[in-house]
Amino acid sequence: MVKAEGVHKSFGAVQVLKGIDLEVAPREVFCLVGPSGSGKSTFLRCINHLEKINSGRLYVDGDLVGYRQQGEKLYELRDSEVARKRRDIGMVFQRFNLFPHMTAIENVMEAPVQVKGETRASARERAGRLLDRVGLSDKAGNYPSQLSGGQQQRVAIARALAMEPKLMLFDEPTSALDPELVGDVLDVMRDLASDGMTMIVVTHEMGFAREVGDALVFMDDGVVVEAGHPREVLTNPQHERTKAFLSKVL
Ligand code: ATP
Ligand code: MG
Repeated sequence: MVKAEGVHKSFGAVQVLKGIDLEVAPREVFCLVGPSGSGKSTFLRCINHLEKINSGRLYVDGDLVGYRQQGEKLYELRDSEVARKRRDIGMVFQRFNLFPHMTAIENVMEAPVQVKGETRASARERAGRLLDRVGLSDKAGNYPSQLSGGQQQRVAIARALAMEPKLMLFDEPTSALDPELVGDVLDVMRDLASDGMTMIVVTHEMGFAREVGDALVFMDDGVVVEAGHPREVLTNPQHERTKAFLSKVL
């Protein structure tokens, strides 16, 4: 579903991604961990067309991200083409980023109506079902300010799902939450995983990674240091850098 080959990304003179190689299979829960500044968010943003890579190849569902290949040549995609591709990818951020002036259900309906041209009636019905799925059918009429952080994050997940993405990216979805709210969000993600959604999850929740993850990559300083099954990497890390990191988060 996602394939990275020698992906490099710099901001000015600062090299952030220094040759990332990895592959995420369909239906896989792929956990990405690593210290602050190692490039995790940047990598997710590259997958989601929010940043352009400088070299290497990045594919989502077999298509090059950001470019079209003709023969040996690469052409940058037009904005409209990028917008179309981004619809297939849902992203959930650490901060929930809901529209503050819209209720929960309006937040979930917004993109299908505005971007896909779905009728309000049909979008509302689907949004209702999605809110039910994340355990919030009784909060449909609440504004974000009337929801807890964990509830807002579950609305954000429902909102991403409303576009029926084939890939979901989670960037530390629980790290801004009070500890007692983390579980409900992880439950929703677990449910999504068992439904077969392909997910890349940047997280410090090693319990989730161990239980739900199919693969885990430890990144440091813009490179993949170690990769494997979460249980393997978490119980038997091979590299000093992985060991040092895990001793801090486990
Ligand atoms: P954290 O765990 O703190 O979220 P991260 O692994 O997600 O860290 P990134 O946010 O990807 O790290 O940042 C990696 C590096 O890239 C950092 O040194 C950051 O300062 C730099 N960086 C990220 N975005 C930009 C930008 N738009 N312009 C300049 N530098 C940037
Ligand atoms: Mg980050």
